[in-house]
Amino acid sequence: MSELQNKNSWYDADKAHHIHPFMDPKYFDKNHVRVITRGEGVYIWDAEGNKILDGMAGLWCVNVGYGRQELIDAANEQMKNLAYYNSFFQSSTPTQIELAEKLATITPQGIDHFFYANSGSEANDTVIRMARHYWSIQGKPTKRIFIGRHLGYHGSTLAATSLGGMKGMHDMGGSLLPEFEHIMQPHWYTLGAGLTPEEFGLKAAKALEDKILELGADNVAAFIGEPIQGAGGVIDPPSTYWPEIQRICKKYNILLVADEVICGFGRTGNWFGSDTYNIKPDMMPMAKGLSSGYIPIAAVGFSKEVYSVLAEGGHIAHGYTYSGHPVACAVALANINLMERDGIVEMVRDDTGPYFRKSLQQLADTHPIVGELRGAGLVAGLQLVKDKENKTIFTSEEGAGLICREHCIQHNLIMRMVDQAMVASPPLTITRDEIDEFTEKAKIGLDLTAQHFGLL
Ligand code: PMP
Repeated sequence: MSELQNKNSWYDADKAHHIHPFMDPKYFDKNHVRVITRGEGVYIWDAEGNKILDGMAGLWCVNVGYGRQELIDAANEQMKNLAYYNSFFQSSTPTQIELAEKLATITPQGIDHFFYANSGSEANDTVIRMARHYWSIQGKPTKRIFIGRHLGYHGSTLAATSLGGMKGMHDMGGSLLPEFEHIMQPHWYTLGAGLTPEEFGLKAAKALEDKILELGADNVAAFIGEPIQGAGGVIDPPSTYWPEIQRICKKYNILLVADEVICGFGRTGNWFGSDTYNIKPDMMPMAKGLSSGYIPIAAVGFSKEVYSVLAEGGHIAHGYTYSGHPVACAVALANINLMERDGIVEMVRDDTGPYFRKSLQQLADTHPIVGELRGAGLVAGLQLVKDKENKTIFTSEEGAGLICREHCIQHNLIMRMVDQAMVASPPLTITRDEIDEFTEKAKIGLDLTAQHFGLL
């Protein structure tokens, strides 16, 4: 049966049997699911035959674009040779070892040991367990609390949900565990009235110091933040923020965790967001771009200093059946090799990143419903406002973001909506011509949304 003939039965079967993450099931009472059947470069195709520019690289992950033969071959070869072996009980497989060695060369200086997981959420659960273990080994078992940020996103397991600052997720099933705290996000546009961005960056960082003092440094294990908050709306902090956060963590003897799940692997124009913001993390969870989403794999990088303590702490009672799955490691290695060979990070830093930002900045400066452009490199957020002058953001009831997202998809562009901001994170292989196509389509979506509200 052809794809087109199949599609109706897919729509029915999906509704009958498939539960979707982050969706209201009732949506499918009136709408059918969008079935994506193929990908090539920056484009995906749906079962209706539409060719769609994937402005989100899947879920911020398909960094090298779709259909890369090198990655397919790497999986194929590894499966033929050794489909699976574990890394428990004294064992390793060659690709696990070679990937860890490779990661040590591209991660920020000082990060040199890696623990494998299968998702960003699992990586962050690993962070929590290892950080508490680290303090316990040193005779400080009370240092257990994690401080994250409002609208931070660190995953969807119980612990990762608690690390994150998404209230809707905490509310579902009463998911917020004890010993997780959250401070303000460093978002100058919405929270920095009356302050320069630099002053506001210091204020937002001071919220960490205030929280540590409130809780007592002896009770705090770590601070966690994404270098640029992704799912929270692509919030890039003022230049003063990360240096001050780092100073505070050092002063109070708190571990600093940089969640690189989105920012890692070239997204911000450097290998890691920590390079872009000069952050020296103690632990660094990564996933998504590690394999460009071709296969699930995640890792946590540990600094020499943290690892040296863990190494003295005895048995590490933690691990997943698929920690360092050899096929996933082979694909990740092939992905990093491809990125190095094609100079993809340098291209984002020197060419396509600045070009993307210039195009979107022009849109932000001139469009009546865009308040600001956020982000760095090839990750961007466009804040939707109903009054540009007074920075008045649309309310969620007005739903400008959903309307805009729908217009974009009608014009074969995928962008996501977060809190009345449109966010984008295209494959890092996007060309200038494809960026032009992206910008034109995004402008159509914005124009139609502005017309809907009588603002154009
Ligand atoms: N951390 C960050 C910063 C993320 O953006 C995400 C996923 N969007 C996660 C962790 C969780 O990753 P996963 O969905 O692979 O569990």
